[in-house]
Amino acid sequence: MTIYLDHAATTPLRDVARDAWLDASTAVNPASQYGSGRRARGQLDTARETIAELLGCEPIEVIFTASGTEADNIGVAGQFYARSAQHGNRVVSTPIEHPAVMDTVNALRGADVHYLPVSKSGVITDLTPLKEPAAVATCMWANNETGAIQPVEDVIAAARATHTPVHVDAVQVVGHRHVNFHELGATTLAASAHKFGGPRGVGILLAKRSPAPQGVIFGGGQERGIRSGTVDVAGAVSTAAALTEAVSEIDAEESRLRALRDQLRRAISSGVDDVVFHTPEGDQSLASHLYMSFPGAEGDSLIMLLDHKGIEASAGSACHMGVNRASEVLLAMGVDEKTARGTLRLTLGRTTTQEDIAAVAEALPEVVRLARLAGMA
Ligand code: PLP
Repeated sequence: MTIYLDHAATTPLRDVARDAWLDASTAVNPASQYGSGRRARGQLDTARETIAELLGCEPIEVIFTASGTEADNIGVAGQFYARSAQHGNRVVSTPIEHPAVMDTVNALRGADVHYLPVSKSGVITDLTPLKEPAAVATCMWANNETGAIQPVEDVIAAARATHTPVHVDAVQVVGHRHVNFHELGATTLAASAHKFGGPRGVGILLAKRSPAPQGVIFGGGQERGIRSGTVDVAGAVSTAAALTEAVSEIDAEESRLRALRDQLRRAISSGVDDVVFHTPEGDQSLASHLYMSFPGAEGDSLIMLLDHKGIEASAGSACHMGVNRASEVLLAMGVDEKTARGTLRLTLGRTTTQEDIAAVAEALPEVVRLARLAGMA
């Protein structure tokens, strides 16, 4: 039997999402004017309204994209190119962003980028770079590797003082914590359906009417011209079904997973020598994440040895899987290179049971011993 502990990379499709997808799978182009097109449009509108209601925004502010990555690209680059001619080329970001944001920021033509520093526990500590206006500021809500929750409310308040729009990468948060876009006050916010039991290949960008990002791909002008391309009605309907169920379970799942995660942390602390935890304790992190290093072991060895025992986990960033290198997030937190290479990220989700946690706690001491014997590449 396989124990799946990589829910932050992707989590299994919910039954309600699969059923909703099948029901809507024959929907045609929702922009066409004949009967079947109007029916598809009706299904899309309903999905958009459901998502808006669940995330505290207006339906018109919901933009469907093809991934969280795409939503991040539009939020950051779309805002920068819409504003830089008038508002200058300053950009404020953080050194712990997911590559969907980090690489987008790095690719902005002519940008002058300033980073908000982070503490040893991977949390933003200083908002000074936000004192001057910027074309756009961007900040993730929770880090995908450590699970550390960022002070996005403070970032948004500081940016508001200089009329700087803020993009929030909430891909790890939506469906796992309560989100209210209007109360938060962000300008744009990215989410991804496959992180909360929706289909892979559907992203959501929440975008205020003004200031609005410009599109970063060009075409038929769908989704307010912000994301051209025929909209995937089945994907949208399935996402709405998954989000409805996920949001209804947030409170119960939060406390269930937090208890299991904390139990696992204690078992690893007492069962394995020399472990360095990177996930902040208590409610400073998402309930699902446990990210740690076993200095002297290589992350890839840990993953392969666990896989051999039927335990599926990740060394950290999904995007760098298979490449033996230190996590940029950990380096930004001041972790040394050797420690940053011996990482293991266990992320719990709705299929995780007490038995799974006991099995991992039992397997890890031997796995770490063997990985340390194999040494570093
Ligand atoms: N942002 C964060 C924080 C993520 O964790 C991920 C996925 O791992 C993404 C963006 C990209 O989302 P997607 O896989 O839908 O492109």
